Amino acid sequence: MRKLFIVLFLVNVAFTLFTFHLLPPKVAMNFGNTGSPNSWASKEVNTAIMLAIDISTFIVIFFLPACISAVPSRFINIRNKDYWLNPDNKNLFITRFGELLAQFGVVMFGFLLITTAITTHANISTPVRLNIPAFLTNCIAFMVYIVFWCMRMHRTFKVANGDSSIPVNACTARKDGVPAKHLFLKFILPERMFVAIKSGTRNWLIECPCGYKRDLWDAGGVRYKGFGEPRQLGKCARCGDVTWHKVRRKTDAEREEYPGTD
Ligand SMILES: [Zn+2]
Repeated sequence: MRKLFIVLFLVNVAFTLFTFHLLPPKVAMNFGNTGSPNSWASKEVNTAIMLAIDISTFIVIFFLPACISAVPSRFINIRNKDYWLNPDNKNLFITRFGELLAQFGVVMFGFLLITTAITTHANISTPVRLNIPAFLTNCIAFMVYIVFWCMRMHRTFKVANGDSSIPVNACTARKDGVPAKHLFLKFILPERMFVAIKSGTRNWLIECPCGYKRDLWDAGGVRYKGFGEPRQLGKCARCGDVTWHKVRRKTDAEREEYPGTD
C-alpha cells in the first residue's frame, strides 16, 4: 500500500505539471454554485498551490509513523493507549497505523487527481465552467471514505474483551467467548448459511512465517468460497513477532491435525 501511495504521489505531481501546459495564463481558482468562476489567479500560482498540497500531504502521511515512534508516549492520544504504546506493542501499533495512513493517502491522492482533472477541464472549456455533479460526487465519495476510514481506525485499535494483553486479530484471537465477526454473522444470517460459512472456513488455516498454524475459524477468521483476506498482519501467539500471516487452504494432513475445536 505504501508503494502505491508513493506512486500516486508521483502521478499527481506529474499530472499537475502536465496540466500547467494545458492551462490558459489566467485560471479560475474558485467557482460559485452554478459552476461559474468567481476568483482568478495566474496559472503559476494555481500550479504552485496544487504542488504544495501534494507535497505537504505526502510529507505528513509518509513521515507521521516515524514521528510517532520518536515522540514520547505522553504526547500521543489514541484509543487503548496504555496497551498500544507499551514497548511490547508499539511496533505493531506503528506498523498498523502506517498501513492505515498509507491507505488514506492512496484515496486522498485519488481524490486530488480527480479534482485536478475536473478543475483543469473547467479551465480549458469555453466558457470556463465547473462540472458541478462530477465535483460533488468526488467530494461526497471522499467524505464517505473518511467516515469508513475512521471506523476502520477505531476497530483496528480495539483490544479484545477488555483483556489488555490480547489484541483483536485473527492470529491471537481471545481465550474465550465468540469473536465479534462470528457473532455478527450469526446474528444476520440464517442458521443454515452460518453453518455453511463456518464449515467452509474450517477448510482454511492461518499461518505465521515461524510455522505456527491455527484453524482459521478458531482464530476468529472467516473465509468462504475464496472470499476473505488472504493475508493478515498480526502479532503471533507463539513467536511474538508482528508478521504477515498467510491464510491458506489446509492440506489433507492438516485437515486431520487442525480440525477445529467444535
Ligand atoms: Zn510466529
